[in-house]
Amino acid sequence: MNESNNKTHLNFIEEIIEEDIRSNKHGGRIHTRFPPEPNGYLHIGHAKSICLNFGLAEKYNGKANLRFDDTNPVTEEVEYIESIKEDIRWLGFDWEDREFFASDYFPQFYQFAIQLIKAGKAFVDHSTQEEISKMRGIPTAPGTESPFRNRSISENLALFEEMKNGKLKEGECVLRAKINMSSPNMHLRDPIIYRILFTPHHRTGTEWCIYPMYDFAHGQSDSIEGITHSVCTLEFENHRPLYEWFIQELEIFPSRQIEFARLNVEYMMMSKRKLLLLVNEKIVSGWDDPRMPTISGMRRRGYPPEALRKFATEVGVAKRENLIEYVRLENAVREQLNNVAIRAMAVLRPLKVIISNYPEGVEWLPVENNPEDPNAGIREIPFGKEIYIEQEDFMEIPPPKYFRLSPGGMARLKAAYIIRCDEVVKNEDGSILHLLCSYFPESKSGSDKSGLKVKTTIHWIECQHALKAEIRLYEKLFEVKEPAGSDEDFRTLLHPNSLEVIEGAWIEPSLANAEIHQSYQFMRTGYFCLDKDSTKDHLIFNRTATLKETWLKT
Ligand code: ATP
Ligand code: MG
Repeated sequence: MNESNNKTHLNFIEEIIEEDIRSNKHGGRIHTRFPPEPNGYLHIGHAKSICLNFGLAEKYNGKANLRFDDTNPVTEEVEYIESIKEDIRWLGFDWEDREFFASDYFPQFYQFAIQLIKAGKAFVDHSTQEEISKMRGIPTAPGTESPFRNRSISENLALFEEMKNGKLKEGECVLRAKINMSSPNMHLRDPIIYRILFTPHHRTGTEWCIYPMYDFAHGQSDSIEGITHSVCTLEFENHRPLYEWFIQELEIFPSRQIEFARLNVEYMMMSKRKLLLLVNEKIVSGWDDPRMPTISGMRRRGYPPEALRKFATEVGVAKRENLIEYVRLENAVREQLNNVAIRAMAVLRPLKVIISNYPEGVEWLPVENNPEDPNAGIREIPFGKEIYIEQEDFMEIPPPKYFRLSPGGMARLKAAYIIRCDEVVKNEDGSILHLLCSYFPESKSGSDKSGLKVKTTIHWIECQHALKAEIRLYEKLFEVKEPAGSDEDFRTLLHPNSLEVIEGAWIEPSLANAEIHQSYQFMRTGYFCLDKDSTKDHLIFNRTATLKETWLKT
């Protein structure tokens, strides 16, 4: 590939980075970071950010840090930290020894604040919250300067120290940067940078009773870590002038912030706050419910990490908000699973078939593990006189062009024989008890000499060796394409039947050895994986995806 050709494939962040490398900015060094706030589990949007930040570091021989933005002691929990690390590792990325916490920088932030006060660029404000927001005004007209704005440096230093030493009450005062109350950018109108909070922090305990605001911690953390390219989502574009002001006033490392559009996917809602509500209100079984847009939910559902990475790359990096079709994610999953998933047979809604002319006992028939993978080998599955087929593979009064089983009709059993339906045996209530069929011994798969022609191959399970399983089928959690964009209470937008549990399914005996999260293609029914709640006596499979794009057809 020549250079100009190559260039057309760069996204705008890569273009910036390559330009910086060419001009030897920061000695050509590339350093990114993923900065989650540990206040929830990561979702597919975070996966996009992880792939971007770690991917850029990989591509340009740089480094990527993991930094927990844990400056708010109120919402953060240790459980979230562990889940975040697990998810990043599972996606296939490694932060090596670069695991940082913004809270480790509290002493440094405190010094930064003092530096600003000493430069006459910050002041302690005793106005109330309401007064402050009222004075901030509206973007089209200048705000009002606080009556406390011109306190002396020494008074500010003394008050800030009192704040730090717990001498003042929560809400009594705040520290504000002294910038410009007339700026059209509201973030520059003397933003609050420190507040009093008597909430213990998960790492610093009760050491601090003042905490920096996000805007006074995020950019500075980047500078402290020498982050060269600080990639974030568009909503921070307006904050950039403020971060640059801090960099300039504090004379710290000039990380460059670059904004891109956050990933939005159809039918998904990605606000952690709302996802937490779904969990707390038990609308889903937990953060890792397979219907959740979380990385842990997708893992449990059977989405392979390769598929998430591929999806994240394929959707690209945009400068404008957009909405990605759900089917693109699902197709990335299908593509990957088609290559790697072992084929198996499972009958979800069974109908018993007795093969009248088949002898007692079973024979073991060879079947390919994965026709897409020549190295996947074969396994043997039992075949016998009594089998289950799928209810929908039989119709007593078939419509035209129905090529599956019907009275007098024939179908091939996958990897076995052709059978013909001779009789429908019914219960007293008229429902079907079982079918009586006959098989054609000379039609054995692989050595068919019968000369019979059938249009359909169906899957089946031999009854004696069959294992019972619970199968969970999922629909999208929300019925509307943009649940986040709706004004309605999001609870009213939920799909009423997003989970269907099938208790009495039958699966082939080889699946007794399935491992948690291992993917299978159940022939003709979709991709499935063993759920983490499975036990040897109670196998549970999640449907990862259907084989075709049927679920989005309206
Ligand atoms: P949420 O709005 O879901 O609560 P957040 O932005 O508050 O997410 P953070 O923990 O602050 O969550 O996010 C960590 C990183 O992930 C940030 O750099 C953020 O920009 C990025 N990120 C969050 N959501 C998305 C998304 N939908 N697409 C791309 N990146 C995202
Ligand atoms: Mg955030």
